Amino acid sequence: MREQGTISIHTENIFPIIKKSLYSDHEVFLRELISNAVDAIQKLKMVSRAGEYSGEMGEPEIQIAIDKDRKTLSISDNGIGMTAEEVKKYINQVAFSSAEEFIHKYEGKSDQQIIGHFGLGFYSSFMVAQKVEIDTLSYQAGAPAVHWSCDGSPEFILEDSSRSDRGTTITLHLMEDEQEYVEDARIKQLVKTYCDFLPVPIKLNGEVINQQKAPWRESANNLTKEDYLEFYRYLYPFQEEPLLWVHLNTDYPFILNGILYFPKLRPDVDVTQGQIKLFCNQVFVSDHCEEIIPRFLLPMRGVIDSTDIPLNVSRSALQTDRTVRKIADYISRKVGDRLKELYRDSREDYIKVWQDVGTFVKFGSLNDEKFKKQVEDIVIYRTTYEAKGETQAAKSETPAVQVQAEEGDAWQDVQPASTSGTGEQPAPTTSSYTTLKEYLERNKERHENRVYYCTDEVTQATYVELHKKQGLEVLFMDSFIDTHFISFLEREYSDVKFSRVDSDLDQTLLDKDKAGEIVDPTTNKTRSELIKELFEKALNKPKLNIRTEALKSDDPQGTPPAMVLLPEYMRRIQEMSA
Ligand code: ADP
Ligand code: MG
Repeated sequence: MREQGTISIHTENIFPIIKKSLYSDHEVFLRELISNAVDAIQKLKMVSRAGEYSGEMGEPEIQIAIDKDRKTLSISDNGIGMTAEEVKKYINQVAFSSAEEFIHKYEGKSDQQIIGHFGLGFYSSFMVAQKVEIDTLSYQAGAPAVHWSCDGSPEFILEDSSRSDRGTTITLHLMEDEQEYVEDARIKQLVKTYCDFLPVPIKLNGEVINQQKAPWRESANNLTKEDYLEFYRYLYPFQEEPLLWVHLNTDYPFILNGILYFPKLRPDVDVTQGQIKLFCNQVFVSDHCEEIIPRFLLPMRGVIDSTDIPLNVSRSALQTDRTVRKIADYISRKVGDRLKELYRDSREDYIKVWQDVGTFVKFGSLNDEKFKKQVEDIVIYRTTYEAKGETQAAKSETPAVQVQAEEGDAWQDVQPASTSGTGEQPAPTTSSYTTLKEYLERNKERHENRVYYCTDEVTQATYVELHKKQGLEVLFMDSFIDTHFISFLEREYSDVKFSRVDSDLDQTLLDKDKAGEIVDPTTNKTRSELIKELFEKALNKPKLNIRTEALKSDDPQGTPPAMVLLPEYMRRIQEMSA
């Protein structure tokens, strides 16, 4: 036999489940009722713009009223209202939303957003109320006002109402253990959290309690630097100013708006916990975007608003969701674009934010192939190299803008970093920056495919000095991420050798050094050879290299007469076994 039919639901059994398990958090009922009220107001605008309503509109507003004695909370709007038929259709039928029908009918006639979708939000009121009443009057001429009430059983009463003003009031008779919602402060806090940026004034006791303006919905051209900063301060009060921001705005192949900020990275900031706020149609959804934001961008702050991020699926499912993956890609691409734009437009500003932004860039390069490709030319390194004519002023607080080697550039002797005393911050040797490409190009005659780097400006200061004396440019790679980043660079640039300043030099340079050395008449060995033998014996380590630059000159800076260097591979083995 074969039979076809429709699955039926037994309301008595399903109703308690809807009430208890629709949302894990009871407080979201307010978000749901306010978004319905906003929708009702937007719908009225749509109907009016379509020429189907010419009555008075009034100032759109949502009013919240608390009655402590009766233990009620009510939410009123002056929106579109409902006819008896609409109440029967959209309220009495669970999971039946008018949103789709509405959008379909008025599509293209308006830019209003409708929040509703699933037709379930209204029933969240039963999470906190033992009885719910609706009092409503439709905009449609001649439609009588209606009153609906339901005490949480699947039975309802629908009757005439004496209401005379267009719109809807939802009244909740709060359960005994949900009395927190008669407190003004609690309601204010909820409105701030969930509904702050909804485009309609929300009033509690006549006072407007929401911000209304959602800057991320504006076009970037309409916003000034101060607007962005102000919005940041509003979202994250008492925090340092952000370094840089990215305005996201796309409607294909998904809809996404947002503003993301690069904060100054502080050691106390937990970079594994996202701080970006997720919105859906200006309604706050969550403080955690870990599944949507690429991991390396998690320390960013700000807002993301998208109707294309599925809200009702599990977190682990989100990570594999195709749209979510695309959104993540889009965000990192936009962030990369923004950085490139700054690099191109103002190298000076780029250098200013590099210390913090560089961490994102390096972390992103390590983790995301596409992002790596995008930013590989804008990774910069602080260097000992200084272009000729760089002014003293440029060296102070603000990092100097100097990267490109120009004709006539010369090596300049810079004061060595002070290493004396304890707890004293070494003055930065120099604050010029370079890209790796520029470094290799500039030094290709002196040391082709060889990069000298310093990981600790204090303990390696003498080595840095020695390199400078020998005309060797040193890059500072001393942030916490650089250890990983150096290994990454070694993989990326397989023909380039990366040597830490306290490891060996290549043989040709050593030979060059030796050329001018004094020979000991009794042994017929150079001084460095003698020292090398001595140290190798004493330390029981073969293959030491001795750097002898200082042996040739009397050194006013007090550089030691020679340096003992482990070959790079030995240094690494030693570090690994340490
Ligand atoms: P959704 O908002 O997803 O459509 P809800 O359960 O929140 O689902 O609401 C169901 C329907 O009830 C809405 O689609 C709308 O037609 C109607 N409705 C709810 N609240 C209001 C209101 N304040 N004014 C007018 N209509 C409303
Ligand atoms: Mg709704």
